[in-house]
Order: sequence, then C-alpha cells, then structure tokens
Amino acid sequence: PALSLFNDNTIGSENCEYTQDFAFGKNCYMCMVAWRIQDCMYVCYSADTKDTVDSMDILGTGEGLYESIFDEKCFGCRNVYYSSALINCSFCYDCSGCEFCFLCVNLRNKKYCIKNVQYTKEEYEKILAFYELETFGGSEKAKREFENFILTKPRKYAFFRNCVNCIGDKLTNSKNSKYVFNTRKAENSKYLENGDTQKDSYDLCIGGELSECYEGLTPDHSNRALFTIYTWKSVNILYSESCQSSKNCFGCVALKYGEYSIFNKQYTKEEYFKLKKKIIEHMKNGGEWGEFFPMKYSPFAYNESMANLSFPMTKNEIINSGLCFQDNLQQTKGKTTLKEIPDNINDISDNILNEILECTKCKRNYKITPNEFSFYKKWRIPVPRNCFFCRLEKRFSLRTLSSVWHRKCMKEGCKNEFETAYAPDRPEIIYCENCYQKEVY
Ligand SMILES: [Zn+2]
Ligand SMILES: [Zn+2]
Repeated sequence: PALSLFNDNTIGSENCEYTQDFAFGKNCYMCMVAWRIQDCMYVCYSADTKDTVDSMDILGTGEGLYESIFDEKCFGCRNVYYSSALINCSFCYDCSGCEFCFLCVNLRNKKYCIKNVQYTKEEYEKILAFYELETFGGSEKAKREFENFILTKPRKYAFFRNCVNCIGDKLTNSKNSKYVFNTRKAENSKYLENGDTQKDSYDLCIGGELSECYEGLTPDHSNRALFTIYTWKSVNILYSESCQSSKNCFGCVALKYGEYSIFNKQYTKEEYFKLKKKIIEHMKNGGEWGEFFPMKYSPFAYNESMANLSFPMTKNEIINSGLCFQDNLQQTKGKTTLKEIPDNINDISDNILNEILECTKCKRNYKITPNEFSFYKKWRIPVPRNCFFCRLEKRFSLRTLSSVWHRKCMKEGCKNEFETAYAPDRPEIIYCENCYQKEVY
C-alpha cells in the first residue's frame, strides 16, 4: 500500500493534515513541497515562512504574505514578487529594503512610493485609500495596472541572491551550480529544482539537506540516494520508494530502518553486494541501469500532476509521449450556494464559512476555511473568486519555468549574452547584469 499523502503530520508536524511532501510544520492547510512553515495555507515550494496564504517560492523568513512569489524577509505584504526586506508593501516587483510602497518595480530602500514616484506619507495614504485594496474590484484594478507597469521596466536576466558561478533562476546563497531553479544553498550541483541545501547532486526534483544524490524526488536528509522517490534519511539506497532511515537497500518500497535489503528482503552484507552487482548487470543488459523509473509507471495522469504546470503539454503531446491523460479531473461542480460575494471584505461575515462558492473561471466549487477567513479579515484582503487550482495556475504563469534560453541583452547597443529562464517569446524586457545595475542604482 502507498501513503495517500506524504507528510510527517503528528510526528515532526502538528495539525498539518492536508499537506503533501511536507515536514516540520504547524497549523498548515493545503501546502505542498514545503517545510518549517507555520500558519500557512495554499503555499508551495517554501520554507521558513509564517502566516502566509496563496504564495510560492518563499525561501526565507517571511510573515503575513499573500499572493507572493520568491521573496525573502518580507513582512505584511501582498502581491510582492522577487523581492526582499519589504514591510507593508503591495504590488511590487524586484524591490528591496522598502516600506509602504505600492505598484513599484526595481526600487531600493524607499518609503511611500507609488509607481516608482516619491510621495509624502499623507499623499501616499490618500492614494492608497483611493484604490480600495480591501475590495475585489479595487484589487483587480491594481493587479491590471501592476501587470502592465512591470512590463515597462527592464528586469535582470536571472534572479540570484548571493550566488557565485551559477546558471538558472530564483537561486539564493548558492555556488558552482548550473541549471538550478528555485533553490537555496545549492553547491557543486546541476539540474535541480525546488530544493533547499543540496550538495554535489544532479537531477533532483525537490529535496533538502542532502548530498551526493542523483535522479530523485525528495531524497531529504539522504546521502547517495540514487533513483529514489520520497526516500528520507537514507544512505546508499537505489531504485526505492517511500523508504525511511534505511541504508544499503535496492529496489525496496516502504521500508523503515532497512539494511542490506533487496525487494524488501534482508540479506547478509556479503549476499547483498553480490546480488546487487548481479541485478545491475542484468539492468545494464536491458538498458535500464542509470535511468529513473519510466514516467509511464506514474500513478497519476500527467495533466493532474504539478508536472503539467512546470512543463505544460497539450493533451495530444501527453498521449503521444506515451503518458497518461485524465479526462475526468477530480472536481465538484453545481453545488454553489453563494454566487454574489460582497466586494468589500469588511462587508462579509463569517456566514461565508457555510457557503459553497463557485470559481468564476472553471466553475469548480470551493470553500473558505475559518483560518483563511481570519487571514483575509486581518490583512483586509477580499475573498478570492477563483478556486485553489485556478489560483495556483495563475501564480505559475507569473514566474519563470525551469528551463533556460541563450539570449542577448535587450538594452540598445549592448552586446552581452546570457542564459535566461525568460523564453524569447515572453513580453518582459530582459537586461544583462551591467545594464540592469545601471537602471536600478
Ligand atoms: Zn477554478
Ligand atoms: Zn546589457
């Protein structure tokens, strides 16, 4: 049997029942690929954040964030992206060290700015109040203005914070790592995404505090985990799934404290190494050795997994690749009890907790949970009109994917070239390091 959800709830985590690939959390709901987070809802690919909703790639201490992506040390902010050390800011992109800024891009150490223009405290408060961000209409207006405004400002070809000799995007405190995305503390590694503290490793999707791992999905706290899925705290383990605290195992499933085991059967040390060698020879002859489990064995259809958000494919492309496509995605429709949600969060009472809402985009039904409602009230944020899935999809569309293209700097006259996660057909203005620095400082 397989675990329905892979988390450490009731062991390392407390009150985090509906979480997946998750550890060391407290009071979290619907969070995926995250650890050491508290009071979070609908958060993924994150660590060390508190009181945060509908956000992703938050890989540093943060608190009170809403609809935000790739931020560090931000507090009480909403819709802030690729930013650090912000307090009480909203709708900001690549800002740092700012307080009370709204609709700003590429700002450093500013206070009371709107669309990069300096105002007095009184002027700032007056304009901000005019936008009525506590209403759905006001928030949507700000969102539209923000999305247009950020396209008029150049951005850096790749987003690195404290990195040396790296290629990729959304990377912090890393060195000598290539093709690494949305990761912190990567060292001497290649082809990683969504990781936290990974050393001397290649080809990993998710994983933390590990070394010398290869071709794996979440080999957390492991060393030499090769071709493994959800294999935590293990050493010298190959082609295994859901094993914990095991060493010297091959082809095992759901073992705990396993040792010298093959297909879950324990051998003596000598027998283990003899048999392992024999199996590897056999796999080499069949062309299987050195490759990850084939995708066709995934228990999930491609379009119902996160893969389709990271590497989107059409139905035909999925089927032509020999993968499974799910026509009937799990969803509830037609049970709506409330269609017209009041515009202003202040006009909504906790009666909304008893209502079934309907996503304005896909018509899927969804609910507001008590903690989520308290969060919206506390930060004066309107109730979302879209379901969890549409919100996640929208967030993915605002960030770069885990691929790079070789491109030229778009500043007139500059001949610099670089590897960037911005595909050539994207609308953003992409600058090299030099041109970007001149623009910002
Ligand atoms: Zn939806
Ligand atoms: Zn340039």
